[in-house]
Amino acid sequence: MKKTAIVLSTTLGLALATSSVVSANPTTTPNGPWVQDEQNLSFSSFMTNEELYSTLQKLEKASHGKMVLDKAGESNDGNAMYVAKYGDNSPDKKKLLVYTQIHGNEVLGTEAAMEIMQKLNSGGKEINDILDEVSIWIMPRINPDGTMNQYEGEQYPARYNHQTWDPEALGLPSDTAAPWYYNADGSERGQNNNERIVYGIPGYDLNRDFSPNYDFDLEEFAAENPEELASILNNPKTNNPSSTGFEVSPEAEALTGVVADFDPDVIIDVHHRGFNRLSEDDNRSVSIEVLGQFTTKPFTDPFTGQNYSIDDDVLTLSKQVTVAAYDALQIGKSSFGAIQQYPQVNYPGSGLGAFQLNGAATMLIEVKGQTQTLGQKQNGMLKQTVKAPIYDILAKLADGSIHDVDASRYEDIPPYYGGIDPSDPKGTGF
Ligand SMILES: [Zn+2]
Repeated sequence: MKKTAIVLSTTLGLALATSSVVSANPTTTPNGPWVQDEQNLSFSSFMTNEELYSTLQKLEKASHGKMVLDKAGESNDGNAMYVAKYGDNSPDKKKLLVYTQIHGNEVLGTEAAMEIMQKLNSGGKEINDILDEVSIWIMPRINPDGTMNQYEGEQYPARYNHQTWDPEALGLPSDTAAPWYYNADGSERGQNNNERIVYGIPGYDLNRDFSPNYDFDLEEFAAENPEELASILNNPKTNNPSSTGFEVSPEAEALTGVVADFDPDVIIDVHHRGFNRLSEDDNRSVSIEVLGQFTTKPFTDPFTGQNYSIDDDVLTLSKQVTVAAYDALQIGKSSFGAIQQYPQVNYPGSGLGAFQLNGAATMLIEVKGQTQTLGQKQNGMLKQTVKAPIYDILAKLADGSIHDVDASRYEDIPPYYGGIDPSDPKGTGF
């Protein structure tokens, strides 16, 4: 099993006692968890890819046939990507897909996913009844390369994958612009070093690398239309956050393949973000931020000219799922219930953006705290903020009551108010 100790990095000569990790900050309740802005944590204690794989294999074995573990693909560095399938893709079933850690430094969703599988394995009648109605597929750790990223000889999970932009390999001129979400110098936000850590391995933000056209094949398009591809990449009007991703990465391709095969009704993507207070009047520390809508305008694919927009029914179900998640965590006036709506985006090239345009209802869960500031404080509580909504949505999909949720209450989820961490006044994008 994985170790749980927190090891403080001494990279910058800081010799800090573990107790200082929970230093008090009086501006929200509860205080933290966070660390002082000049500190860094070491991540050698987090689950490695090998540990993840062996845990998944044990879960498959312990499931006695309930779960089938399939390899969905391989990362750019050749690390396996698995999908754990509870139930098949039959159109007679309701279908939920959960994926985690598309940003390698956002680790807790993967740990929560393991615990969900454990519960599905060991569940009694109630869970078995749910699984009779609902198939749930879980894809943990979409970014295994970023997870195992190293900095100064220690594991330092990064947001990005490991992959170099190589236009000539696609038959394009060497000066062809990279996709806008390319991280050329291999750098990561840090709490020190002028808020930047340079680990030096280029890569992509995988959660911007999706195309609403599931059939899009970059290599194929490049071989047939190199000049058109170069001109789309070189044009800021077609290579920007509101345009498509380019499916450069094998990771985005693998996830898209699973979505196309499973054709889920609902997809949940788990991330982390910064720290926020709930509102001016309510100083609770935000537990999760949620979002159910990922594009605000119809999208025209620059490669095919095809138009995409979100179906009304899909948007309604997305909002119902998001409201159900919100309700699942209202436990008294605890910090669990301090939930905000993630600021609205228009990202057809994000995973959920592309999937929602293809007819899946979608929800983003953003757990508080980036790995670099979080360490492993309050892990149990934070994992609960992922698990409780997913269990509730599973149950509501099974008995159909998800369709009775009042979608209009989506608008009542408190809006984003502001950051709390002085080094991260605006929080962090998903
Ligand atoms: Zn993220």
